[in-house]
Amino acid sequence: MDLTNIGTVKEILSRHGFSFSKGLGQNFIVNPSVCPKIAEMGNAKSGYGIIEIGTGIGVLTKELAMRADKVSAVEIDSRLMPVLAETLGGFDNVKIYNEDVMKADLNRIIADDFAGLRVAVCANLPYYITSPVIMMLLECKIPVDSITVMVQKEAAQRLCAEVGSRESGAITVGVNYYGSVKQLFSVSRGSFMPQPNVDSAVIRIDVGRESRLSPDEEKFFFRMVKSGFSQRRKTLANALSSLMNISKNDVYSALAESGASENTRIEALDMEQLVSVSQYLFRKYKSE
Ligand code: SAM
Repeated sequence: MDLTNIGTVKEILSRHGFSFSKGLGQNFIVNPSVCPKIAEMGNAKSGYGIIEIGTGIGVLTKELAMRADKVSAVEIDSRLMPVLAETLGGFDNVKIYNEDVMKADLNRIIADDFAGLRVAVCANLPYYITSPVIMMLLECKIPVDSITVMVQKEAAQRLCAEVGSRESGAITVGVNYYGSVKQLFSVSRGSFMPQPNVDSAVIRIDVGRESRLSPDEEKFFFRMVKSGFSQRRKTLANALSSLMNISKNDVYSALAESGASENTRIEALDMEQLVSVSQYLFRKYKSE
């Protein structure tokens, strides 16, 4: 069954009475060259278990299952379960979890399904939760080698920006704290059904950088980073004093110690400076 053939996809979906949900970010891939590339560049190969987020009708799931030892996929939309039973019925190495990925216990899924295998994540992510999903994947510390995902072009630019540049965001700091990220290839809007209003890109995060902070320091670091970027137009001192109740003078001292000026905004700090500022403030505010 060719799940990139528009006629076939329409026939299956109409037989199951399925209509696309915009709210769930349902834009399915119909360009035949895209899914094999995501699978190949995303570690779908012998010795690997792949976590997929959001199966749609299974067009990527199928390519992953043809290459990796096992695929465990999390799909929130129960209307797709009978569709997937039909489209993926021929694969005995695929397991579908009808759950919200933000609530799923991925560590349990990996322990139950992927014993003895290396693990990678591959997905065409629902656009409305791109950053929360990527942050959750990084913060829940599942033992993955790589996270290869399709995201909107603007999100790809933010993810691949340099920490300390105007284009950066909390997510940029997140991916660079836990690993490294690069854009693999672009995908035009015409590759999807229904067609979205923007183009997309596939990026890969290679996870595995040694954690340089203790668990408590790390929690504080990401609270600071998220607070700073949520008010990115303000100086860091103003943002942290209003959102974390930290005195501006303490932020000034922390910035001075990292070699930055008092009026610095968070987007101007590089990774070393962010870590240094947060460690300084953590020492002062850890009990709060
Ligand atoms: N992988 C398919 C493809 O490439 O054609 C579908 C990708 S579509 C962009 C995103 C998929 O994620 C949809 O099937 C949608 O129902 C699912 N989804 C949306 N929110 C979700 C969530 N919170 N947890 C799990 N799946 C979700």
